[in-house]
Amino acid sequence: MAEIGYRSGTLCVEGVPLDRIADAVGTPAYVYSAGAIEAAYRRFRAAFEGQDATICYALKANSNLAVIALLARLGAGADVVSKGELRRALAAGVPPSRIVFSGVGKTRAELEFAHETGIRQINVESLNELEVLSEVATRLGRKARIAIRVNPDVDALTHAKISTGKAENKFGIDLAHARAAFARAAALPGLEPQAVAVHIGSQLTSIEPFRLAFGRIVHLVERLRADGIAIKSLDLGGGLGIRYRAEAPPEIEDYAAMVKDVTAGTGCSLAFEPGRFLVGNAGLLLTRVLYVKEGATRRFVVLDAAMNDLLRPALYEAFHEIAPVRQPAADAERSPVDVVGPVCETGDTFATQRPLPMLIEGDLVAILSAGAYGAVMSSTYNSRPLLPEVLVSGDRFDVVRPRQSYEQLLGLDRIPDWLQGKGA
Ligand SMILES: *Cc1c(COP(=O)(O)O)cnc(C)c1O
Repeated sequence: MAEIGYRSGTLCVEGVPLDRIADAVGTPAYVYSAGAIEAAYRRFRAAFEGQDATICYALKANSNLAVIALLARLGAGADVVSKGELRRALAAGVPPSRIVFSGVGKTRAELEFAHETGIRQINVESLNELEVLSEVATRLGRKARIAIRVNPDVDALTHAKISTGKAENKFGIDLAHARAAFARAAALPGLEPQAVAVHIGSQLTSIEPFRLAFGRIVHLVERLRADGIAIKSLDLGGGLGIRYRAEAPPEIEDYAAMVKDVTAGTGCSLAFEPGRFLVGNAGLLLTRVLYVKEGATRRFVVLDAAMNDLLRPALYEAFHEIAPVRQPAADAERSPVDVVGPVCETGDTFATQRPLPMLIEGDLVAILSAGAYGAVMSSTYNSRPLLPEVLVSGDRFDVVRPRQSYEQLLGLDRIPDWLQGKGA
């Protein structure tokens, strides 16, 4: 990614050397490139040039208000999965007409809020949700525009924890019951079924599962129309993979050509819900080496960042490139180290036996490709405050979330009366 690279011997995000950011906000910190996010969005947009396609950024990948506002300004909509995300989308300026609401367990309160807000579409995932939403909409006196999310029973060939389109996954209504579900939706007073939605998983690196799933959806649309249900739109979800290491994810242009091929003749408008594709490679986790420790059988590099800050390696055994901020010499010797955090779990490991150039205490390193499912998945485990987030644009950088203070961290708790004062 051109926006993140070495310049004059220092790793930079656009025009800003990362040591400057470390001096200003401390470490660890998340750093995002506005230029990289914009470039990814424009590529996606350009691939569907001339088609009626709405790009609904999946907020859950990175829901910082500044990131959402940046994408909203470029014309993106939003895919939200909770009331909190819907509020974020609205607060960042995403027009309700470009917001879709996904998720297998929306509460009545969330459905009410979404319906009152007048969003583009609610993606319903079960028969029970159809009944609840119809009731809510009828009470509020206006029909709810819905898609039904279908489970196409396709293997996304990705990590089991982020595969969502197999029959055994909790998501969507299986194809065999989809027509009946649409018929029920059409019969309910509060609903206006207008679209079919599908999302088969995340970090897909092959185009074939998409083709298979979308083909099944198009076939369903034909049958639904024969049933008298006017499907106007297809929501094809997100899931396009990015390169963390040696993956060769589909090029967006090839993905777009496949979509065009499969959906030609349906006359449907399209919606997409990319998350990782737009922000994953646009961000990094900036961290400092605390200690280099010689274990009995291996060398450990202990960082000031931990699994609570970036969960992906612990959760998915995910690979993240690790780059020293001071550029190593081209011929620098590399030796295998385990890169770990300070948390009291062996799972708090960013890399095992990774060949890295010599690192010493105080060195800055960047954990790359951390723009998606990084900060959003972080916690305060071990009572470690949430990290600051920094957005770089050209030569400027702005703190778009300050580091959580200890007052804020402790201030969430309450000690009940009976525990206050002196003990026995
Ligand atoms: C997570 C999710 C997305 C985004 O997935 P990416 O792999 O980040 O593109 C889109 N739609 C739905 C319904 C999701 O759950």
